[in-house]
Amino acid sequence: MNRIAQVCVNLPARNIDKVFSYAIPETLHFLDIGWRVVVPFGNRTYEGFIVALSALSEETSFEYEVKPIMDVLDSQAWFSDSMLQTAKWISEYYLCTLAEAMRLFIPGKTGIKSEKQFGIISGLEQAAMEQILSRLPPQPQAVYDYLKKHEPVVLSKLKKVFGDYTEAALNDLLANKLIVCTTTAKKRSVPQFTTSVRLAILPAEAEIYLETLVGKPAQKRLVALLLQKEEVKYSDLSTWQITRDTVNRLVKAGVAENVKQQVLRNSYSGMGLREQTVRLTPEQQQTIDRIIPTIDEQQYRSFLLHGITGSGKTQIYIEAVAAVRQQDRQAIVLVPEIALTGQIVSRFKERFGEDVVVMHSKLSIGERHDAWQRLQEESAGIVIGARSAVFSPVTRLGIIVIDEEHEFTYKQEEQPHYHTRQVAAKRAELEGAVLLLGSATPSVETYYEAQQGRHILLTLNKRIDHSLLPEVQIVDMREELAQGRRSVISAPLQQLLADTLQRQEQAIILLNRRGYATFVLCRECGHIIKCKHCSVSMVYHNSSNMLRCHYCQASCPAPDICPVCASRYIRYFGTGTQKLEEELGKIFPQARVIRMDQDSTGRKMAHDRIITSFSRGEYDILLGTQMVAKGHDIKNVTAVGIISADSALNLPDFRSAERTFSLLTQAAGRAGRGDKAGQVVIQTYNPEHYAIMASSSHNYEVFYRQEIEARKSLQYPPFSELLKLTVFSSDENQARSQAEHIARQLGKELPYDRQTEIIGPFAAPIAKINNSYRVNILIKSKELANIKSQIVELKLNSRNDVLLDIEPLNIL
Ligand code: ADP
Ligand code: ZN
Ligand code: ZN
Repeated sequence: MNRIAQVCVNLPARNIDKVFSYAIPETLHFLDIGWRVVVPFGNRTYEGFIVALSALSEETSFEYEVKPIMDVLDSQAWFSDSMLQTAKWISEYYLCTLAEAMRLFIPGKTGIKSEKQFGIISGLEQAAMEQILSRLPPQPQAVYDYLKKHEPVVLSKLKKVFGDYTEAALNDLLANKLIVCTTTAKKRSVPQFTTSVRLAILPAEAEIYLETLVGKPAQKRLVALLLQKEEVKYSDLSTWQITRDTVNRLVKAGVAENVKQQVLRNSYSGMGLREQTVRLTPEQQQTIDRIIPTIDEQQYRSFLLHGITGSGKTQIYIEAVAAVRQQDRQAIVLVPEIALTGQIVSRFKERFGEDVVVMHSKLSIGERHDAWQRLQEESAGIVIGARSAVFSPVTRLGIIVIDEEHEFTYKQEEQPHYHTRQVAAKRAELEGAVLLLGSATPSVETYYEAQQGRHILLTLNKRIDHSLLPEVQIVDMREELAQGRRSVISAPLQQLLADTLQRQEQAIILLNRRGYATFVLCRECGHIIKCKHCSVSMVYHNSSNMLRCHYCQASCPAPDICPVCASRYIRYFGTGTQKLEEELGKIFPQARVIRMDQDSTGRKMAHDRIITSFSRGEYDILLGTQMVAKGHDIKNVTAVGIISADSALNLPDFRSAERTFSLLTQAAGRAGRGDKAGQVVIQTYNPEHYAIMASSSHNYEVFYRQEIEARKSLQYPPFSELLKLTVFSSDENQARSQAEHIARQLGKELPYDRQTEIIGPFAAPIAKINNSYRVNILIKSKELANIKSQIVELKLNSRNDVLLDIEPLNIL
């Protein structure tokens, strides 16, 4: 009997959110739930995911013709049951389509590439056809003749043969109904192979041959190596300083040969995990002793590891992951940004070697696919990556670690707006795995949940090697001004830097604004130069002498005269990292300064290079945006300067205090991690603000107690749930009137629902970005479920001019 598959078709459209029935052909009888398949839809082919199966009975009737599944994409199901359940949960919770949610779990947006192909229409009367053709220009005639011989031909092939004329010629032929266009699907996934080299002759012969290789050291090395190891992978050649060229020479000589093999499954099992070499501190030991038993139980548990900066949290992650690997289960380790976390990756690699797969955003779709396949086949047991790695197709999940769980990068700022922590919790729960969240400055919500018993709270209060937390000095910039100092570098910071340089130690300086001058003003008429497409001021970049918009990347040459009043009194204000770099050069001409921000790290892995050379002592001062505050552990850094502690504090967002506290504490935590004491200077105009005071004493609890009170009195999360609805349009009035209409529609139900409050509509603080006006509605509720179902009923979730952000991190 025929079986029917319910397939979620991977369509880009948001307004089609249902599954479709397809017949499973006899040839694909093995198909089951979770497989990725190729299906016809309309007149094209798409990727689809099987989400359910049913038997075809006599009574079943369909409103449309049931077509058969055409092909499969993998050699096993891609989605495990819990991955599928997680995807369903995401689509319901974050109000996106099932296809959008399932797409998160696959490398690239789709596993197939569709391409147009062309063929001639047969059955035309020869004479009629020739007559039509003769009226056409020569190019279409040539294309027609070619198709006649070679059909079907894909567009890319035709373009190679006929060049620029191809499309025009095809259009002519299509218009005259001489040819047809269909689409064909090309699979993206290819089975993974490794190539190795081995001897093509007997060992005894090789020994003799070795003697003949005089003056050919590389070939000699390779032959000796092959005698010893039998087989060497291409990917390992570089470690022996052997090039492909050397291999080719020996292959040509008939001494060696290439072997291609599909990568073996379970290759890790022979690889024995390395013994631990670090002796845990008593605090670390107690902590890990609480985690390991729950790993053995194989039941969902979640932990919040609150450990001050430099307390050795990474070691706890490593031990917990080792325990999971002992049981042959797999681990997902999430970091805020892979480029900024080279250290955690190398520590995992030191301990687990080849068992670790690293997911970079810079991996190609093919490389990503291969990496995921290794996890799926269990030939690797640990994946480290940024937020999207939470979707890795590990088959037997034992733990998910989220390092620096408070970081905002864990929230996806595009559709679907999921939060990694929530997805991870769901997945771990479904798979009976452990969730381990770690931070020196946990998010207020997570800490609150721990207080409520939803996570087991573990604390590390001591730094490794008894090093002390750095001493923090707060500098009131109003006083600096009163004393007539106008430099962005205060007297105490200048002193600290001078002392540090003198002792040949290193300093990190944080300034969260890139560029040279943050705004450009005409002194004559007061005009500030704004971006044409966005409602923000343009930033001056001196390296290129250009003004640049940091929102839409538009740029223009810096003007000499005011575009409004033509005066020459154009002045630059507000210090960015480029200008700070220049000022430091003036004050400390002998210091070696390196800048790290988005402009200096444009190229691949530039972060890593900057951090590595700084940690090797090639520079004295590292200055930059918040990326300098993250994660690194450099023992010779004894001074940290924070130029403007207020930049985040002044944002009209209820999380601004939390953001400030965490940035300052993390930045300060970079100092004094070795045996030398650290010192920190924080410059601010709000020295009495609790976020700044608490960070100067590194006291999370003090901050938390005040912050949670503030949240409670205003009923902000964790005491409510938020939903941000943004209406956007190129027409300002249209955006506003649509938003008002939506607010009224949603408001109709509200008198019966005292739990829910609708705030707005109000123009977003940056009302225009990239020529698109944005109007926000913020919904605050004890229980969003009602309002969510209303949103679905009104079909707001499938509108193209509406964006929904469930539990937004950014309410602006
Ligand atoms: P955190 O992530 O809590 O800021 P790290 O994990 O980076 O701290 O650890 C800080 C430093 O202490 C690192 O250099 C690490 O190698 C070292 N370290 C951690 N645990 C131990 C230990 N048990 N013995 C010796 N050194 C350790
Ligand atoms: Zn002017
Ligand atoms: Zn712009």
